[in-house]
Amino acid sequence: VAKLKESVVLKVTPTAPLRRTIQEAATVLRRGGLVAFPTETVYGLGAAALEPAAVRKIFEVKQRPEWDPLIVHVGSVAMAGTLARNLPASFEALTARFWPGPLTLVVERSERVPDEVTAGRPTVALRMPRHKVPMMLLEELKAPIAAPSANRFGSPSPTRAGHVLKDLDGGVDLVLDGGPTLLGVESTVVDLTQSPPRILRPGGVSREDLESVSGPMPVGPSVEDERVQRAMKSPGLTAKHYSPQATVELFGGELHEILEQMVARAAALQARGTPVGAIASREMMYSLQAHTDYVSCFGKWGEWLRYAQRLFAALRIMDANEVVVILCPLPPAEGIGLAVRDRLLRAAGKETPHT
Ligand code: AMP
Ligand code: MG
Repeated sequence: VAKLKESVVLKVTPTAPLRRTIQEAATVLRRGGLVAFPTETVYGLGAAALEPAAVRKIFEVKQRPEWDPLIVHVGSVAMAGTLARNLPASFEALTARFWPGPLTLVVERSERVPDEVTAGRPTVALRMPRHKVPMMLLEELKAPIAAPSANRFGSPSPTRAGHVLKDLDGGVDLVLDGGPTLLGVESTVVDLTQSPPRILRPGGVSREDLESVSGPMPVGPSVEDERVQRAMKSPGLTAKHYSPQATVELFGGELHEILEQMVARAAALQARGTPVGAIASREMMYSLQAHTDYVSCFGKWGEWLRYAQRLFAALRIMDANEVVVILCPLPPAEGIGLAVRDRLLRAAGKETPHT
């Protein structure tokens, strides 16, 4: 099948992007086009947030259901203020401490924000990224950028430019390739319209750090949100998200228990001729290699940031190697481990437990 169009790819140095590359990207956005760019979390698929036609292209290209709202990236707290209303005191405290950074805040929206961005909701999700590329792009554009993750809806988020091209080549006008992203999991989404604020999605800023600024924060959608969502009967309500083609199986507990169970499961699958892959810590490599077709090592047990950095790339590479079952250890629900657990549970098609 002939491809109609190819995306333009430009390399950028994450710490020192060239001004003219950023200007070129800003021009694409001003004309209503789509630009994929690295952030400190994952790659984003950006459009001018105040242009409904441009925002609609994001949904088309990602095949994202129209009820799923987008995160709006801003260049400053002042820009955020133009998109929001009735900001609570916690907004100031949280932005002072965590912006720029991997924290998205859901607040009441102003009339400037198009319905396309918020999926018709009275709220908008705002984030000020910490990566030089989006920071310079926002400075150049002088306007907010709507940008969800630059993957096809439901597939593992992109942590490299190659992942973006695999999912969206031709659909996006320009891809800025800044190499692998630093955190590897998405931003933490906190809903400030509820009291106390609620963590809707664990991510790059830990629950512990948020609670040290703003007090206790429950995790997961509220019972009311869940009721409304279910009433919408949309396909995304299935917990499955961030999923590879392969089946994901999870193993929790202490390192030695996890290892014992994963080796036993891998051996059983191999005995049946099922191609099996695993994500492993360095301590697990030796025993697992003997019983698996593909192992992706993230680092030492306890290095959860490295697990986060590698997770989505590992799921994608095992799909590329035609692994049928992927065995993954679950980190404890602390620090960035909470976000890794959440993505693993969703990749396996399970709900994140409420706390
Ligand atoms: P993505 O950037 O693709 O990881 O997706 C953005 C996510 O942010 C959505 O799937 C929602 O979970 C969340 N989000 C965005 N806007 C809102 C909002 N107004 N209210 C609640 N959650 C939101
Ligand atoms: Mg996403």
